[in-house]
Amino acid sequence: MKNLLVLAILVFGFFALINNSGFAHRAELTKDTAILPFKYAGLLTKQPDEKIQIPVRSVGARQIADTWHAQRGTDRLHQGQDIFAPRGTPVYSATEGYVFRLGENSLGGNTVSVLGAGGRVYYYAHLDKHAADLAAGKFVTPETIIGYVGSTGNAQGTPPHLHFGVYTMSGAINPLTLF
Ligand SMILES: [Zn+2]
Repeated sequence: MKNLLVLAILVFGFFALINNSGFAHRAELTKDTAILPFKYAGLLTKQPDEKIQIPVRSVGARQIADTWHAQRGTDRLHQGQDIFAPRGTPVYSATEGYVFRLGENSLGGNTVSVLGAGGRVYYYAHLDKHAADLAAGKFVTPETIIGYVGSTGNAQGTPPHLHFGVYTMSGAINPLTLF
């Protein structure tokens, strides 16, 4: 029980950290459903996934142009990969995990954040819309559709694509290395 409490505090601290790291817009927080961190604590002790599913199933890893750490604007590096597909293409969860945020913000547009094994956070952005039955706290697997490819947020006016980010406790990592 004591260990669980420590883990819960760690999860809280981690969420506070990533909320300040720039991938999540602060305004997004007010719209979130708060969930008890206990539900997630067990995931932290698991090994992070070595391989994950490409969230857009019709796209192969070699079709993804590597834009990891490409310059974005004057002060930002691209913290993920863009996976292009027609608007409305289903986006599946890359892993098992719990949805901990459905977001809507000016940068990512409609977003979904999933907490996976090892405390990793998988971030899906520019969605046309979320899957209708998705909610914070829901358990997802690579069989779960979490949303549909779009161009919301700062991707408006660009070809529809999924922005996919993977965040560890120590920062973003290149999703392409996991496919
Ligand atoms: Zn992107």
